[in-house]
Amino acid sequence: MAAWLEKLKEGAAFPVLAGEPSAARASYRAGGPFEALALPGSADELSGLLRLASSLGVPVTVLGAMTNVLVGDRGLPGLALSTAGLRGLAVEGTTLRLAAGEPWDNAVRAACEAGLEGLERTSGIPGTVGGAVRMNAGAYGQETFDTFESAEVADGAGERRVLMRGDLRWSYRSVPGLAGLTVLSATFKLARAGAEGLEAERARILAARAAGQPLDLPSAGSVFRRPQGDYASRLIDACGLKGLARGGAAVSEKHAGFIVNTGGATAADIKGLMDEVRERVRERTGVELCLEQVLLGDF
Ligand SMILES: Cc1cc2nc3c(=O)[nH]c(=O)nc-3n(C[C@H](O)[C@H](O)[C@H](O)COP(=O)(O)OP(=O)(O)OC[C@H]3O[C@@H](n4cnc5c(N)ncnc54)[C@H](O)[C@@H]3O)c2cc1C
Repeated sequence: MAAWLEKLKEGAAFPVLAGEPSAARASYRAGGPFEALALPGSADELSGLLRLASSLGVPVTVLGAMTNVLVGDRGLPGLALSTAGLRGLAVEGTTLRLAAGEPWDNAVRAACEAGLEGLERTSGIPGTVGGAVRMNAGAYGQETFDTFESAEVADGAGERRVLMRGDLRWSYRSVPGLAGLTVLSATFKLARAGAEGLEAERARILAARAAGQPLDLPSAGSVFRRPQGDYASRLIDACGLKGLARGGAAVSEKHAGFIVNTGGATAADIKGLMDEVRERVRERTGVELCLEQVLLGDF
């Protein structure tokens, strides 16, 4: 075991595990082991670990629910830090206060039930609050940053500060100002509306997702970002690539924007298929698709 890992284990009052399989935690159900995986239970524990890791010079990767990442088959070197243990959700007037590890959809459900408008169309997006903020996750014309108010973040040395909406710039699935920071918690400012209407909208969105997405198979959602004025899924479908397979990975027959693990896919299968789809779409349409999912480790 690396000396830094022993020191991290000694210094932490929570589990720091060596060699845990990442595939068991990633929504793709693929990828190699974590060199080290820490499971802090609070923002204090997490920022303390960042401080210690920084003093030891260990590279850190922050992870939410791993629904938008692909870890290479050789695994993820350094320390992976899970926010899954940071839970908390409170509705205060029209403000929603959320811990980073809270499942995003719990927040959406709570907002709808409380008659608070602004998140309902993001119903059913998997993953955590931290992941949704970092990715500016969104769906059906609504995104995290429409109603984002503030976030408490920690930098690589574990120093904590609060960033307000005005401190950040964002665009489609991108918040550059959060690069290198860990989101510990976030607040959202919502508007009052009827709970009944919001819950009906939520049910409509959840049904649309179930009808249009391959939710029965492991995936990490849309592989590519939406190109200007079009949809990646439309282009992939138009190129006849639905069902294209490599090992255990296949372009979903139900939604061409998804790559699914049909059984035993390796990260190399998935990455190879991503590359092939991008290449074939470029050849046929001239459009260069850009990856939305985050590749971690060696490819
Ligand atoms: C079936 C399916 C459907 C999906 N549909 C949608 C959709 O409609 N819209 C959409 O936008 N996405 C969608 N996704 C993708 C994914 O769910 C979102 O991007 C989600 O917000 C990722 O959250 P996570 O906690 O899983 O993040 P992870 O996958 O764990 O991490 C994603 C990135 O965020 C970083 N990160 C995670 N937590 C933090 C934190 N606390 N602080 C700083 N950085 C952090 C990670 O380092 C990584 O770079 C879908 C995925 C699946 C599997």
